Amino acid sequence: MRVKYVDLPGQYLQQRQEILDAVDATLRSGRYILGEPVEEFEQRFAALCGVRHAVGVANGTDALILALKALDIGPGDEVITAANSWVSSASSIALVGAVPVFADVGADYNIDPDCIRDVITPRSKAILPVHLTGRCADMHAINAIAREHGLVVIEDAAQAAGAKLGDHAAGAMGDVACFSLHPLKNLNAAGDAGALTTNNNDLAAKLRQMRNHGLANRNQVDFWSINSRLDSLQAAILNTKFAHLHTSIERRRRHADRYRAGLADLVLCPSARTHAYDTYHLFVIQCAQRDRLKAFLKEQGVSSAIHYPVPIHLQPSSRHLGYQPGALPVTESQSAKILSLPVHHLLEDDQVDYVIDCISRFYTRG
Ligand SMILES: *Cc1c(COP(=O)(O)O)cnc(C)c1O
Repeated sequence: MRVKYVDLPGQYLQQRQEILDAVDATLRSGRYILGEPVEEFEQRFAALCGVRHAVGVANGTDALILALKALDIGPGDEVITAANSWVSSASSIALVGAVPVFADVGADYNIDPDCIRDVITPRSKAILPVHLTGRCADMHAINAIAREHGLVVIEDAAQAAGAKLGDHAAGAMGDVACFSLHPLKNLNAAGDAGALTTNNNDLAAKLRQMRNHGLANRNQVDFWSINSRLDSLQAAILNTKFAHLHTSIERRRRHADRYRAGLADLVLCPSARTHAYDTYHLFVIQCAQRDRLKAFLKEQGVSSAIHYPVPIHLQPSSRHLGYQPGALPVTESQSAKILSLPVHHLLEDDQVDYVIDCISRFYTRG
């Protein structure tokens, strides 16, 4: 049996006619920049997150950079984030001239509020928690720390479209939130795309202007800015995906439950939560002999991935920040044991059972 880690062509074929119709309508309209598909996307996305405003941008990394800039974060400022994320969570901070400061994470891979307290300095300006794997970070504790110290909170919700903590959606719990709609995310375009969400009217207006050259209107430039508009064709494709999102997340959650039941005695699985709605963008186990297990799974036809093998603070790009191995013990120890199993919505139960069986054979044969 073969079990793919992702199946983007399979996802396309499931929705082929809808997607082709959306692309065709956009191409026929002749409006290829912003316009109706982007506006429709922004309304739908704001509704998904339960916020007043969504602003479509070119990708998730631009969303982070624009959020930081819109909040006037720059040289002399420190922003606290996690090091077990995709590199953009930190590179965006450095790219606006500020300093990324890493706090260690907890057992669920999300930033540990106590570790945030340990690294706050007079230069701290913001906390940038990542909802890693589609599981919301402890936003109650994070927002309380932010209030106490006068910091802003920027959610990196790139992996968490549709996730919730209690009644609050990812994207509705910080001052502003950043999403990627990259093909590998749960709500995905057929190329690069991203979005920001906020309840702050002024911030939304500023972000809208910032993604479009700083233009107030066709002939008036209020400030210099980049072009990071959400592409209209990608918006049209994204608009076909909303109706399927809940079903696909439910399937991921079903696979997660199946893995949990089948793997409990063999490896460490993410815990099931009742007070939160986790979307399983990734299903990450921690296991002994990770690299050998990964190779064994590959031999058995099962592809898996590692998110991420080298934490950001130990990347060559971070050398000037001065972190040594051992600086973030939990992050580092997890990075040697984590493995992301296939969990996409097109998997069938018997494929999940096959992965469980392979892992079971790996550990029982010794
Ligand atoms: C994917 C991702 C990003 C970057 O998004 P792009 O759209 O690829 O620029 C940022 N942060 C996290 C946590 C991500 O998973």
